[in-house]
Amino acid sequence: MIYADPIMVEIERKLDAGTPLSAQDGLALYRTWDIHSLGRLARRQKERKSGKKVFYVLNRYINSTNVCYAGCTFCSFAADEFKEAHRVFRMTADQVFAKAMETGANFNQIHIVGGHDPRQLSLDYWLPLMRRFKAALPHVQLSLFTAAEIEYMAKRHRMTFPQIVAELKAAGLDNVNGGAAEIFADETRAKICPNKVSAANWLALHEELHRQGVASNATMLYGHIESLEDRVDHMIRLRESQDRSPGFNAFIPLAFHPDGNELSYCGWTTGLDDIRTFAVARLMLHNFDHIKAYWMIQGLKACQVALQFGADDMDGTHGSTDEEMIYHSAGTQSGQYVDDREFRRLIEEAGYMPVRRNSTYDEFAWDWTPPASPMAGREAVVTVSS
Ligand code: SF4
Repeated sequence: MIYADPIMVEIERKLDAGTPLSAQDGLALYRTWDIHSLGRLARRQKERKSGKKVFYVLNRYINSTNVCYAGCTFCSFAADEFKEAHRVFRMTADQVFAKAMETGANFNQIHIVGGHDPRQLSLDYWLPLMRRFKAALPHVQLSLFTAAEIEYMAKRHRMTFPQIVAELKAAGLDNVNGGAAEIFADETRAKICPNKVSAANWLALHEELHRQGVASNATMLYGHIESLEDRVDHMIRLRESQDRSPGFNAFIPLAFHPDGNELSYCGWTTGLDDIRTFAVARLMLHNFDHIKAYWMIQGLKACQVALQFGADDMDGTHGSTDEEMIYHSAGTQSGQYVDDREFRRLIEEAGYMPVRRNSTYDEFAWDWTPPASPMAGREAVVTVSS
């Protein structure tokens, strides 16, 4: 290729040779004004991995509680039950189950995350619920928790990481969500989430999940007080972790949203920064198969552009009655639900082939419907307690 910025020539040479990009390369990619070349390189790397495919999932998305005392400064979702009783919600296991089943069983993933709630984050709550899901919906993968929630439960039950991962896996855990990674760099992390799982433990827990055959994703929260060096350092730590213990499926850049939190003064990320971040991630993370443009965070229109900058996934439909609260509390203007036909239309218009997947990227025909549940007629009717 011919490049306006000569730095891209050396980067292309490294990509063709399969040489991992250095931190200096990552910073050069973030700083180049040759945005078109950045996009071309990222798109080429994406197509080397997955050709013309772009993935999405029919899923249910549930926030099970907003009770949390971790006090992350970027968070607009958490509520203190003693000071903000009017905002607090905490779903019972019956309510979570009923919510997931509200619109039938034709989906491939349940995605659940919540706050650090001492009354909900326990194995007594989750293990029976997970087994119940697996009995009623054997075709659905359980994509539950973040490393922060699992570490919280491990401390509470005085279990090691190998022990708690084994318990959760036995109950049906298929995948752990990528949240709580935020930014690994110590100084920045201490300012934005001092009470949350440390960077070292986040990585150690994900590596243990992978060793035991549980897949996971990884995220990066960007656009607040972190530096570009922090972002590149974050990606390199993930890349090294993937080499040590492979099992990350997707990397998901999460743009900081400023409404109603302590970091509001940072403002919104820009379209160009978002697009650059997808492309840099695709080029730095050569050992990650998927880079996800999460429509609820980036917005559908920016996601469609991100497909030209290295992204190959747009996340899920979210059930038509689901209510995502983490990003909606912080000001996202995205809706709550996207029809799968809309995903297909956006992906096809971008020149790609839409592929329906589950959490671990098994592929399904677009009109695949699940076999009848073994619990049909029994679990479909549940008691909802308040
Ligand atoms: S980001 Fe998560 S852990 Fe941090 S305060 Fe919000 S809900 Fe709690």
